[in-house]
Amino acid sequence: MRIFGILISGHTPHNKMFTQKQLGTISYHMKKLIAITFILLAGITSVSAQNWCGAVEHRQELYADRPAEAAILEKKLEAFNKLQQENTAKGLKSDDHYIVPVVFHVIHQGGSENISIEQINDQMDILNKDFAHLNADSTNTPAVFAEYTGDTNIKFRLAKLDPNGNCTEGVTRTYSNLTVSARDNVKALIQWDPQHYLNVWVVKTIENFGTSGGIILGFAQFPDQLWGDAETDGIVVRHDYCGSIETASGNYGRTLTHEAGHWLNLRHIWGDADCGTDFVNDTPTAEEPNYGVCTSNFPWHVGSSYCSAGAGQTITQASGEMFMNYMDYSDDHCMNMFSLGQGSRMRSAITTYRNNLVTDANIAATGTADDYVTVACAPIAEFTSNYIYGCAGDGFNYNNESYNTPIDSISSFEWTFEGGTPATSSEQNPSVDYDEAGVFTTTLTVTNSVGSSTISKESYINISADDADMSAPYFQNFESSEFPTFENNPQWNWALSASEDQSWERTTQASSPTLSPIDNGANNASYRIRSSEFEQMGEVHTLLTPSIDLSSTSTPIRAYFDLAHARKNGNSDDQLLIHVSDNCGRSWTKRFDKDTDALATNGGGNSFFDFVPTDGQWEQFSVNLNAFAGESNVILKFEFTGSEGNWLYIDNFVVCNSDELSIDENPFTELNIYPNPSKGDATIEFDLYQDAQIQIVLSNVYGAVLAQKDLKMKAANNSIQLKDLYASLKAGIYFVQLNNNGTSITKKVVITE
Ligand SMILES: [Zn+2]
Repeated sequence: MRIFGILISGHTPHNKMFTQKQLGTISYHMKKLIAITFILLAGITSVSAQNWCGAVEHRQELYADRPAEAAILEKKLEAFNKLQQENTAKGLKSDDHYIVPVVFHVIHQGGSENISIEQINDQMDILNKDFAHLNADSTNTPAVFAEYTGDTNIKFRLAKLDPNGNCTEGVTRTYSNLTVSARDNVKALIQWDPQHYLNVWVVKTIENFGTSGGIILGFAQFPDQLWGDAETDGIVVRHDYCGSIETASGNYGRTLTHEAGHWLNLRHIWGDADCGTDFVNDTPTAEEPNYGVCTSNFPWHVGSSYCSAGAGQTITQASGEMFMNYMDYSDDHCMNMFSLGQGSRMRSAITTYRNNLVTDANIAATGTADDYVTVACAPIAEFTSNYIYGCAGDGFNYNNESYNTPIDSISSFEWTFEGGTPATSSEQNPSVDYDEAGVFTTTLTVTNSVGSSTISKESYINISADDADMSAPYFQNFESSEFPTFENNPQWNWALSASEDQSWERTTQASSPTLSPIDNGANNASYRIRSSEFEQMGEVHTLLTPSIDLSSTSTPIRAYFDLAHARKNGNSDDQLLIHVSDNCGRSWTKRFDKDTDALATNGGGNSFFDFVPTDGQWEQFSVNLNAFAGESNVILKFEFTGSEGNWLYIDNFVVCNSDELSIDENPFTELNIYPNPSKGDATIEFDLYQDAQIQIVLSNVYGAVLAQKDLKMKAANNSIQLKDLYASLKAGIYFVQLNNNGTSITKKVVITE
């Protein structure tokens, strides 16, 4: 099934691709997730991307920068391999039975990846059947291998007591964006002591941290790594490969069987090398991962022309390769066995590395002993709603997602909806209307016979008025010390994601020079954020503009803003997204998505100390809003996330018609002063697109205003004489500035004797 595509150890000349002889069989066994390319001329099928497990690469990455530790571990592992092979030689079967307490941490965004307890129970059932060789397809194990398989004597049980001794179903649920493209970062969100529990994180997708295509279905950490990397011990698995029902419907749930094998020190059957060793004597040496090889292919790779038997090997190559072993990469439905030697190796891993897990004390403390009497747990309150933004008058549907107890054991739901109608409800999944603009808190208390639990989500619902008060051209330069909320003009307010200390903040340390099409000349302040001080992985910090009325605008229309950013170090990993909504935030369209490299305006390179941009380190960015021209309520949402990044600044945010207000980016087509230099007088000439109130300011090189005139001008080519502004200018350098509605343009004029 799963799982590979690349390796890993460098000395693997041809396990990266399919050999010609494999291709014929692969075409019968392709999984739906495998991309297929038909090579018409040759008439054969090739597989361009495979799904794989990341356990070996995970190990390599962890030790990439720590060669000394890696060498020590390698030595220890060699000793383990020797000991385990000696133990195995004395007897493969053991009367020792082990129970492993397990906790599932479901990391989710409120979608289908928040899998049910039933799906988790189904996965546990598959795992235990596979480990006991009680799986229904165990009858498919070929006779020649059947005598080498059996019960591993290792059982997995969901914990009934959490690390604090509280009643649990053995499942935690954490809302986090890290569920997408997950890596070790999800483990930092929540982990129970790996000396007491096997931690399994269920995620939406896993980052492909290899160099081949395909998707990673799961990855485990080997047990010897518990020594130095306890905080990443455990197994990560995709929700749609966890179990065989609901979101994993159509799958077989054997990703976890395979990963649990790694977690207990099993190697891939081909030893992650061309005819490599897995240090187990009753698994024939295999040439490479057996993608797509299945029951009808048995016997497969018979004889020494593929691999020669390893020292001490108890099954010869005459039986072919054991592609039906859980530690191969054949399809899930083609797998059906661990060997007795693998069982022995896993039990050795428990006694060598994970002995604390299986002690009587730990089994009692985790509620996984045979005689533990399961009791009902108090619920843990949780809810979602179908929207968190809306216009006044919109309806919202709430969904109770409380867990840790069967839903029908909950005897009461007590909801309160600030700003909502109704204001309270006792329904499980109530519907609520919000008629007034505002930001509102929702609270849910759930109770069963054992206890109750309350969750309160502050500033959870955001309602804005149907028609926006602000209209384009809209300008915000962050100069007001009141920003983001304006006591006397709430329609100007910007909204910040709630309750984080290290979030967007106004600063006077840097301000953009005139880049954006509107600039009122006030350049003292800007708005900024940095990820290096974020307290939690995956924090998302949003910043919402006020609702802007674009109903009288026509295309082309854009949002402009000036930005400055630098990376802090090689690990800086920031991202800025901008989403746009025309329905009060009920749905969003992504219009901007840039990462650290694309956002850096310092010419690249690390800026270890606090980044404060110079004038030259600002750049103008913009977002196309043509799709929103004519809409009466448009909101833009800046969404910033990241880690280890330096400051990101924004300034001079503008929404305007880019035809009228874009050229270089000044609001007038041209400002001409001629002759220039001149002797005393000159003509100031400029074009206006529409009738407008124009202010003309004459100042000297020191910024002193010598003259100022307000004039009503027609949409035409206009001109005024310098002498009409100031009668007798001495020789020197002066500046003429035109202002209109917060936009300006400035030109130098030189007066000679
Ligand atoms: Zn693997």
